[in-house]
Amino acid sequence: MPSICLRRLLPSMLLATLLTSPPLTAHADTTRYFNVNGYTLVSPPGNDAELKSFSSFVVRDGRFIAVGGEHLAEAYAEATAVDLQQQTVLPGLIDAHGHVMGLGMRLSQVDLRDSESAAAAVNQLVQFAQQHPQQSWLQGGGWNQENWPDKRFPTAAMIDEQIADRPVWLMRVDAHAGWANQAALDAAGIDASSIDPDGGEIVRDQHGNPTGVLIDNAMNLVKRVIPEPTVAEQQQALQLAFQRLLSLGITSTHDAGVSAEQIALYQRLAANQQLPLRIYAMIAATEPRLPELLAQGPITSADDKFQLNSVKIYADGALGSRGAALLEPYSDAPHQHGLLVTPVEDIATLFNLILPYGFQINIHAIGDRANRIALDQFARSFAEIGGKNLRNRVEHAQIVNKSDLKRFKSLNIIASMQPTHATSDKNMAEDRLGKARMAGAYAWQTLLQQGTIVAAGSDFPVEPANPSRRRYPPRSTRSTCRGLVC
Ligand SMILES: [Zn+2]
Repeated sequence: MPSICLRRLLPSMLLATLLTSPPLTAHADTTRYFNVNGYTLVSPPGNDAELKSFSSFVVRDGRFIAVGGEHLAEAYAEATAVDLQQQTVLPGLIDAHGHVMGLGMRLSQVDLRDSESAAAAVNQLVQFAQQHPQQSWLQGGGWNQENWPDKRFPTAAMIDEQIADRPVWLMRVDAHAGWANQAALDAAGIDASSIDPDGGEIVRDQHGNPTGVLIDNAMNLVKRVIPEPTVAEQQQALQLAFQRLLSLGITSTHDAGVSAEQIALYQRLAANQQLPLRIYAMIAATEPRLPELLAQGPITSADDKFQLNSVKIYADGALGSRGAALLEPYSDAPHQHGLLVTPVEDIATLFNLILPYGFQINIHAIGDRANRIALDQFARSFAEIGGKNLRNRVEHAQIVNKSDLKRFKSLNIIASMQPTHATSDKNMAEDRLGKARMAGAYAWQTLLQQGTIVAAGSDFPVEPANPSRRRYPPRSTRSTCRGLVC
């Protein structure tokens, strides 16, 4: 990302708007924009793209037809001229790894990250409840009692005083605890007689009554009774996600793991010309209808906005929760190696199922063991059935044994990496891995220098979708950021 003053971007990023909206002036099909602080990338044949600046551009029927200097005034003298008063214009951005429905769902819920006390969080919830009378469960998250004056867990009673008729479920900022009201506890059947599940805790008062906070696996008691979102709720969530992404200048995103139902939703939107940005979807390998979807073959919608040509396989978990599969034990937990979420033999079966259909494999691998398993399987499957030219990817490629890094090049694998993970993990990663293993962690420079393609993404909504904002903005700017992901 070149160092550009992103603060000066147009409110909803001009290029994104231009690419998705009718021409700004109804009477003319050609518009020339001048006095622009523009940047674009040009790729001379055989060379890396170079950053070029421009001060003028011309759009016809929603498409760019010329980018350059003020000389365009002469060449397009007939065009309507619009002065952009030095506003910054960038090409539309592509996020190579995000979760569109996940982002939309977050945006459909109450965001309590800025709450400065439990009472303030409840007030915000009450407002949200009034604005969303149709939601049968009120959900949200982001609260952190460490930011509150008394630093104590909140209670169900605090919510019950205001909202007793609808169940409420609010996740703590780290997703390791949830705050329920009495209606939610009742729906989940949680009372004084409930037993703490393995790996979880029902927080209780001195009489043994649940207080409303559930920790780790105890959260599943509530989560499993929350109804699945309806199709209408999913559609609305997608619209919220689209608006958010476009407002950040993201005009194309890779959706990392979608169900058959979501694919059908996207196809319907594309067929009705209602996809305002490009979606490159990966079928979740856990989708029961995967074989059927593969048999239908790759899809590109008529409007060129929706593409289905890849499958997301899940090899391991994440580093923070020590779920990333490591070759050697965790430095800060000597008996733990992490875990594979798909057994090695099932990974092999999936590779051999997917590649013959010509679909790209995008395998989630965070730990060095998961990365090695992925690379080994790519090597085996390529030798047996081919598929090396399918632009296959490792999603995250976060911790790679140094000796395996060069295999990304020899096996023609794209490393799909998220720069924000490095900054989010920086305090935790070395604790988990120790110094020596850090040499192969977040190693995009090594990968780039050896000629491996690195596809950059954010992993929204796990991380903010906004490529120009730090994860933890200073307090003074945080109040301007209203959505959950900002
Ligand atoms: Zn992801």
